[in-house]
Amino acid sequence: MAVQRTFSIIKPDATKRNLTGQIVAKFEEAGLRVVASKRIHLTKAQAGQFYAVHAERPFYDELCEFMASAPIVAQVLEGEDAIAKNREVMGATNPADAAPGTIRAEFAESVGENSVHGSDAPETAAEEIAFFFSGLELVG
Ligand code: UDP
Ligand code: MG
Repeated sequence: MAVQRTFSIIKPDATKRNLTGQIVAKFEEAGLRVVASKRIHLTKAQAGQFYAVHAERPFYDELCEFMASAPIVAQVLEGEDAIAKNREVMGATNPADAAPGTIRAEFAESVGENSVHGSDAPETAAEEIAFFFSGLELVG
């Protein structure tokens, strides 16, 4: 597998509890490198645009409110097989199903407030990186 880039968010439940460093350490221990990072506070409309793929889901409004409730840390992670590796380190969406040692098993509060986002495929990784970062911020 080649070196890839993926997009990651440390979500409001985690930034509020001052867990940013512990979560970044999990990525680094797994061989992922943070090549771009910024802390920002999304508006609900911006959160809605980012999660537009889920617009028809029953949890969409609550998800957008949550993502705009406190700052997030948007990041680009780079490494071998980074998209799958990030998903592995994150753990399952519902922390009750997340494997021991994963970020969600250790830190997530609920299926909604689950501490991290990670891209699920090369196409979404490219779109999500471009949504948050300009070319100048991506020199690595
Ligand atoms: N989510 C939720 N309720 C659900 C499923 C998902 O609130 O029943 C939220 C949760 O924050 C999740 C996000 O919506 O991380 C996106 O859902 P997805 O199925 O893409 O999960 P992920 O890719 O984040 O594991
Ligand atoms: Mg997803």
